[in-house]
Amino acid sequence: MDTNIIKAAKDIVQAKKIAAITGAGISVESGIPPFRGKGGLWESFDPMEYAHIDAFMNHPEKVWDVLLKGMKDIMDRAKPNDAHFGLAQLEKWGYLQTVITQNVDGLHQAAGNTDVIEFHGTFAINYCMDCQKKYTMSEITLDQIPPKCTCGGIIRPDCVFFGEQIPHENIMRSFEIAQTCDIMLVIGTSAIVHPAAIIPDSAHQSGATVIEINPEFTPLTDRVSNYILKGPAGQMMRQLIAEIKTIRE
Ligand code: NAD
Ligand code: ZN
Repeated sequence: MDTNIIKAAKDIVQAKKIAAITGAGISVESGIPPFRGKGGLWESFDPMEYAHIDAFMNHPEKVWDVLLKGMKDIMDRAKPNDAHFGLAQLEKWGYLQTVITQNVDGLHQAAGNTDVIEFHGTFAINYCMDCQKKYTMSEITLDQIPPKCTCGGIIRPDCVFFGEQIPHENIMRSFEIAQTCDIMLVIGTSAIVHPAAIIPDSAHQSGATVIEINPEFTPLTDRVSNYILKGPAGQMMRQLIAEIKTIRE
């Protein structure tokens, strides 16, 4: 076994306050493609053409048809994987308090984590841009594109598009957690999208041990991470949970 797994298990059982920050990579083993890298959505789409708020406002039908319809199909079927379940287990044992996620797929809550900051909002909820009425993603049928509210207004997902502000309380709370945790687990994020990308920096500067889980090295690996569990998140998390179990026995 990777010696870093043994080290991470020991660090985790000794810590008082642990937070995790996750990105698209944690949901890859659930069948949701990431944006960047191999098989990423950006290989087939230009982000500014489809994921920018101006694109949505100017051509909601195009953004629903090309980007959101595909995401809905994938996310309607996606289930949490062992990485999500591992984080839920860490919470049950009392080691992990909060998951800060850049993802919009709702899989951390589905796995059982109870304190999840959805930094970029959620794709599970949609709302009417005219009357604000809410719709769950499963209530939305794509018989007409863009989907419309009973009032006739256009419906949009409750996630943050490029060019939109991150909700202030998400930023405040995430940095407060980063500055007060002993360990920050950084899982499946390329740490490129700001300001989420600098949350691990903030933890590092405040003296936390930063443990990365990613099959690839990232811009954080040398600069911010104390060490990396290099591999797919589900596989690494299975080994980590097994190792913590042996320590606890
Ligand atoms: P990203 O697409 O920029 O990077 C994905 C990262 O995951 C890479 O570092 C890659 O090496 C890693 N990765 C790939 N396979 C992995 C695996 N099996 N286990 C662990 N790591 C793996 O993702 P990002 O940094 O999260 O930023 C993209 C933005 O796109 C986010 O803000 C997010 O809102 C959004 N997004 C969300 C979803 C989702 O909700 N599941 C999916 C795609 C994009
Ligand atoms: Zn409406």
